[in-house]
Amino acid sequence: MKRRDLWYKNAIIYCIDVETFQDSNNDGIGDFGGLLMRLEKIASLGYTCIWLLPFYPTPNRDNGYDITDYYAVDPRLGSLGDFVEFVHAARDYGIRVIIDLVVNHTSIEHPWFQDARSDPNSRYRNYYIWSKEKPPDAREGMVFPGVQNTTWTFDRKAQMYYFHRFYNHQADLNTANPEVRDEICKIMGFWLQLGVSGFRIDAAPFLVEMRKVQEPGVSDPYEYLTEFRRFLSWRKGDAVMLAEANVPMKDIPEYFGQGDRMHMLFHFMLNQHLFLALACGEAEPIKRALYMPPPIPETGQWAIFLRNHDEIDLSGLTDEERREVFAAFGPEPEMQIYNRGIRRRLAPMLGGDRRRLELMFSLLFTLPGTPVIWYGDEIGMGEDLSLDERNSVRTPMQWTTEQNAGFSTAPEDALIRPVVSEGPYRYKKINLVNETRDEDSLLNRVERLLRLRKECPEIGYGDWKILEVDQPEVLAHLCEWDGSMVLAVHNLADRPIELTINLENEQIDHLLDLIGDEVRPPSENGSYELDLEAYEYRWLRCIMKPDYAEEASPLPAEARFPQTRYPE
Ligand code: MG
Repeated sequence: MKRRDLWYKNAIIYCIDVETFQDSNNDGIGDFGGLLMRLEKIASLGYTCIWLLPFYPTPNRDNGYDITDYYAVDPRLGSLGDFVEFVHAARDYGIRVIIDLVVNHTSIEHPWFQDARSDPNSRYRNYYIWSKEKPPDAREGMVFPGVQNTTWTFDRKAQMYYFHRFYNHQADLNTANPEVRDEICKIMGFWLQLGVSGFRIDAAPFLVEMRKVQEPGVSDPYEYLTEFRRFLSWRKGDAVMLAEANVPMKDIPEYFGQGDRMHMLFHFMLNQHLFLALACGEAEPIKRALYMPPPIPETGQWAIFLRNHDEIDLSGLTDEERREVFAAFGPEPEMQIYNRGIRRRLAPMLGGDRRRLELMFSLLFTLPGTPVIWYGDEIGMGEDLSLDERNSVRTPMQWTTEQNAGFSTAPEDALIRPVVSEGPYRYKKINLVNETRDEDSLLNRVERLLRLRKECPEIGYGDWKILEVDQPEVLAHLCEWDGSMVLAVHNLADRPIELTINLENEQIDHLLDLIGDEVRPPSENGSYELDLEAYEYRWLRCIMKPDYAEEASPLPAEARFPQTRYPE
């Protein structure tokens, strides 16, 4: 195996909800035709992989995560033909597509559930989990506390209770039933055949937990993950699974296995510690989060994100830390949700402060892992707190200053969700066209960082280490791969810092600033002085001494990175 084969390690993933991205037939609902129209822009911004939120037929009571048919496209969004056109066109731009695989539960309107509840002898009865009595733990393990009040709901037709981790209109599938697991593989096989490069596995922990419940004492409940991976890799060798597994660190190895289970996991712990670090103006929480997980297999990778389509889950912090993050980024009760998180977008959380936005994007692109960006965050979109629960961050993409932000020409009241049209994040002010035209915009800075990230494969493929510096406000870390090295420095504080970095042991001849064009030789004792403004960040390519890692690459640094020659 060559590291370069592991495409997902240096991908830039862009997360899109088809429904709110671009409408092409003016019914107020985003669709695959619209997505296809916007593909040039997505490609030009530099994203290399698109993750699509669920687009399957759905009553749409949980943003499409309540599915009634796994083998089709919701007719509001297009047809299977439109889907294939999109995947094909994306591939022509060098963009891979991964899709949400939501197999923890189905909508209760799914024909399987309807059949199962109607007839005790239905072949689908055992696709779900039933109980004659309401189990005593029915108030435990709810995913949406405060909104949901049970995990077992009585079904009149079946005269039984059915189990649901999520809302009562989403019945859990019984993954302990081998027929259900066969079905899951069939679903993956179907979409692989239509050209996708993998799956984002929704609610992965509940898939395996089912087995613990149904088969107490089973030796390895995580074996399903190996089963799914084996199938995936057999059908398509370079397809990947990216799991949503917000689990304790001790369970992480079960999800990666020996490199034979999930390829990627979202780094939920790092996500909440990034915001904690910014709230307290110190780098320590980021360091702590980076060191928290046990080492992962060589083929494993972390997916790093700032915001996603859900709330920021702060349940991995202590009560005091959570209070600190709430106070800094979501102080009002309406900004908080489920007793654990914040339902705001990135830009308003950071008070629209350009310096802090850039800092966070720079961290996203330099921390060891694969960056994942939620559509709209790259232009600094805001949220709509008048919408229910997590829908606050799922408003239509703001393209232009035209009607409905260029999302749709349907009448305003026909839109799937209202466009943000008031306040500092209104579409007349914050939109992709403005951000593209203004060369000093956030978008253009994000695009530049994104391009730099692609030029620094060390970050995705390589090993990393945190450098000890005297100033607790600063995170300095090195990424190294194939004989080359990048140093990233981030000042989390709201004041300037004079920094000395000791690189005596690193075989570095000189540093080249990748954002400015400063070239820095070391001082006599091998240390480097940096003056950082408040929230400033630097990316520095390390030009190694001639005898460093001679065998790693046949080319000298100057040949591999033509701009790096140190002036004579
Ligand atoms: Mg439409």
